[in-house]
Amino acid sequence: MKDDSLRLFFALRCPPRLAEAITTWRDDLHLPGRPVATANLHLTLVFLGQQPLTQLPTLLSLAASVQVPVFDLHLDHLGRFNNGLLYLAPSRPPEALKGLAQGLRDALQEAGIRLDDRPFRAHLSLLRRCPRLPDDATPSFDWPVSHFGLFASEQSAHGSHYRQLQHWPLRPNEAP
Ligand code: ATP
Ligand code: MG
Repeated sequence: MKDDSLRLFFALRCPPRLAEAITTWRDDLHLPGRPVATANLHLTLVFLGQQPLTQLPTLLSLAASVQVPVFDLHLDHLGRFNNGLLYLAPSRPPEALKGLAQGLRDALQEAGIRLDDRPFRAHLSLLRRCPRLPDDATPSFDWPVSHFGLFASEQSAHGSHYRQLQHWPLRPNEAP
């Protein structure tokens, strides 16, 4: 990794107790593959890739301008991409989640930061190089989402580590 740049992405970090419950459930499926560490469970909103450190102030201020209400994420779908990645996802992603990812993309593009144009597919990676889906699995996990963060993806002897650089609260729901 170069000293003057970081591999960055905006994401929701899975709260520790929920991450623990999810990886325990995953381990009980007894599927082959390389498990994602509990501390690494996250949902990527926008991937930025390698960015110069000089870009950080812009990223921090544009993230602060994105205004989205808090929302609940219901993780009820287990899927597998063609590359063998087993993931958990909401079968019906809430509008606020799509709005958050799109709001960040729009603000980044307005700031002249180039992004790939792959469509947003909300998912939490669980297991890499997994050869198949289980015969039956009915996940049901609820995640109250109250903030999002900017992360640097770093390599250590133990694999990838995601360092949270900053986080921002979502707008609280108004009292009825
Ligand atoms: P590793 O690559 O070490 O197996 P990782 O994929 O979790 O681990 P990164 O490659 O740094 O670590 O990616 C960080 C996050 O960004 C992950 O959620 C990953 O799925 C996502 N990501 C990585 N590359 C892209 C890309 N080109 N487009 C969209 N999302 C990406
Ligand atoms: Mg990767």
